[in-house]
Amino acid sequence: MSMNNSPRPRLLIIAPHHSYRIAPYINAAETLGVDITIASAGEHSIISVINKGLYIDFSDHEKALATISVAAVDTPFQAILGTDDMSVALAAKAAKSLGLAHNSPEAALIARRKDKARACLASVGVAVPLHQRIELSESIPAQLETLSYPCVLKPLAMSGSRGVIRVNNVEEAQQATSRIMTILREVKVEDEAAAMLAESFIKGDEVAYEGLLSNGKLETLALFDKPDPLNGPFFEESYYISPSRLSEHTQQQVKQTVAAACQAYGLKQGPVHAELRIDGNGKAWVLEVAARTIGGECARLVELVTGQALEKLVLAQLLNMALPSMEFSGGAGVLMIPIPRAGILRRIEGISAARAVSGIKELVISVRDGHELVPLPEGSSYLGFIYAVADSAAEAEAALREAHGHLKIVTAPLFKLEPVKLESVLS
Ligand code: ADP
Repeated sequence: MSMNNSPRPRLLIIAPHHSYRIAPYINAAETLGVDITIASAGEHSIISVINKGLYIDFSDHEKALATISVAAVDTPFQAILGTDDMSVALAAKAAKSLGLAHNSPEAALIARRKDKARACLASVGVAVPLHQRIELSESIPAQLETLSYPCVLKPLAMSGSRGVIRVNNVEEAQQATSRIMTILREVKVEDEAAAMLAESFIKGDEVAYEGLLSNGKLETLALFDKPDPLNGPFFEESYYISPSRLSEHTQQQVKQTVAAACQAYGLKQGPVHAELRIDGNGKAWVLEVAARTIGGECARLVELVTGQALEKLVLAQLLNMALPSMEFSGGAGVLMIPIPRAGILRRIEGISAARAVSGIKELVISVRDGHELVPLPEGSSYLGFIYAVADSAAEAEAALREAHGHLKIVTAPLFKLEPVKLESVLS
């Protein structure tokens, strides 16, 4: 750790205390010669273990901003980064109050709320599905009767496709609504649990876009095709393959659409992650544009595609350093290993054979034996990840498919004990 008066730039990272994203940023900062301070919550946060830092309360932005301003007097920050959906709004407010380059604080809030995000983009003419809020405190059947089918029902603010369900008629919509309402019981923000969103189903190919904004200018880091059709009823992620095999024209259209969405939200700086669908006419529709990097282990895929750690690119951009050169000419991909069925994971066979497939770089299993597997729409985790690098996108995809074919996921049924009323047993 360098002294306070060192000329090295200093970055403030705001992250939830359990964030898996902190460690890669610490590594990236080291390689770039950047000092960092981490602001996080919780007494036993990662701060005390790895790094000196600031304790903040995410539920009290005013107090958190005061803590950050006091710290900035001793150790001025050149930039502030929010790592997750939860922290980007606070990061934007803090950067604004310290006079640093920042996103509009409202932008992060809009991007997080699917109803607000859709309304914002529709108002400036960016293509988004037709959408309508379904108020859960009002007559639900009456509202479901008014929808055009097929459509997609989803919570207002969740991630990882949780609670996202395609329905083809009113009966399916009713069943899906009760599943979504059960999932929403865990949502603490009243406003976010009060409604769900109904959207027209956009048929077509899906892509994931990863980019960086500098003063409102968008630079593409990677575009991933999702080669397996995602037609529902649930939308489990599986293959992400790069470079995209879409036409150059469509790829440009994707980038322009993301840029227009960023402008509409008021996003100007830092990482952008987006999901879009390309319909039969080659038109790009926005499903999501977020002011953060791609989630989970997929960040690693960007490194395979660009030759540079995603976190290093993000920090370099934020600190106005020259971006490390990105060079990659082959194909790369990841498979987020799908959960085949609900149950208890007994074991996964065939891992060595899968790893031995030519082109497979890494296979990570993230769920332990004995763990309960919960598929979508209720679940929220992946079994693991397989990464491939090959001469072309098609070969990377083929390697992943072959490796996945070797895996045998052995599960045992799960019997849940429901509490039984004593009277009903005795009578
Ligand atoms: P999350 O933010 O939880 O990932 P999304 O709203 O992005 O939820 O939806 C997850 C997935 O569901 C998308 O990647 C897409 O495959 C599918 N999906 C969601 N909305 C639509 C829609 N309107 N039309 C077609 N597919 C959709």
